[in-house]
Amino acid sequence: MALITGFERIVQRDEPLAMHTWFQLGGPAEYFAEPDDVDQLIALVKRCHEEGVPVRLLGRGSNVLVRDEGVPGLVLRLSAPAFCKIEVQGRSITAGGGAKLGRVITTAVHRGLAGLEMLIGIPGTLGGALHGNAGTHGGDVGQWTTRATVITHTGEVSQHGHDELVFEYRQSSLDELVILEAGFQLEEEDPRELARRMQKQWIVKKAAQPMGHQCAGCVFKNPRGTSAGESIEEAGLKGTRVGGAVVSDRHANFIVAEPECTSQDVLRLIELVCGQVHDRLGIELERELEVW
Ligand SMILES: Cc1cc2nc3c(=O)[nH]c(=O)nc-3n(C[C@H](O)[C@H](O)[C@H](O)COP(=O)(O)OP(=O)(O)OC[C@H]3O[C@@H](n4cnc5c(N)ncnc54)[C@H](O)[C@@H]3O)c2cc1C
Repeated sequence: MALITGFERIVQRDEPLAMHTWFQLGGPAEYFAEPDDVDQLIALVKRCHEEGVPVRLLGRGSNVLVRDEGVPGLVLRLSAPAFCKIEVQGRSITAGGGAKLGRVITTAVHRGLAGLEMLIGIPGTLGGALHGNAGTHGGDVGQWTTRATVITHTGEVSQHGHDELVFEYRQSSLDELVILEAGFQLEEEDPRELARRMQKQWIVKKAAQPMGHQCAGCVFKNPRGTSAGESIEEAGLKGTRVGGAVVSDRHANFIVAEPECTSQDVLRLIELVCGQVHDRLGIELERELEVW
């Protein structure tokens, strides 16, 4: 197969994606690769473009539900050290798209740089966070982002400065194939005070999530003026089940996947919740979780 020629060492066939996502559900990727460095990544993206093979970028899979039938084309992950670097210079931080968001935050806090600490407890990578402008009531990742380097679907590298970046609620203008690196400008503050704030936020966040959360996903965006979790709870849907998929008793905006759960169960439960919330409260829920 022309796609693999020259990339035999890094491209796997029929890689199960369940183990790469928080839901731990779904079928395989037709092709899967974790490139060693940027040159290899660009070469692979260019090859896919030439061969007409669709490509997707997977972070830590905390906002993705993979369908049971799997994903055609190539799935890429930026797990190699080359994509996970974090550098601090004065009040600026530069980090790779594959770096864990939590590591970027703790690095900033230890260096006495404030802003990102309110995002502690959001799972996933920096790239995933920037793609969907991840955030909490305390703010979002976009408000501290000053620049980004991306790779397009044709394999071109391009830079976006502060003026070109647009971040809105769970949306960003960074919709190219790969967010390679991003820069943040933060504010100086006492590291001990920052660490205290981060720990407090961590406790609040963890207390609101389902236990055994490795098999759970945060599903809906908050509708304007209200919270998705509260709406689902008000509609009386906590604990509702389809097959092995259950609306969490702890936080109604989470779906927990029990053993034997399939992606189809989760999709049917999402549909049921949307329909019931609409019928009972007149609220239109929009999915935050991506379905691949
Ligand atoms: C327990 C739990 C709690 C959560 N809490 C929150 C919360 O408080 N706030 C919140 O906003 N979200 C929350 N989420 C959702 C999720 O954690 C975020 O959306 C997260 O930022 C996704 O990062 P990821 O690396 O897992 O991305 P993935 O789920 O792997 O991918 C999500 C999207 O980002 C794209 N993407 C990933 N990496 C890159 C990259 N390097 N370049 C280009 N595109 C990329 C993917 O293609 C995909 O379209 C929660 C999820 C769970 C399971």
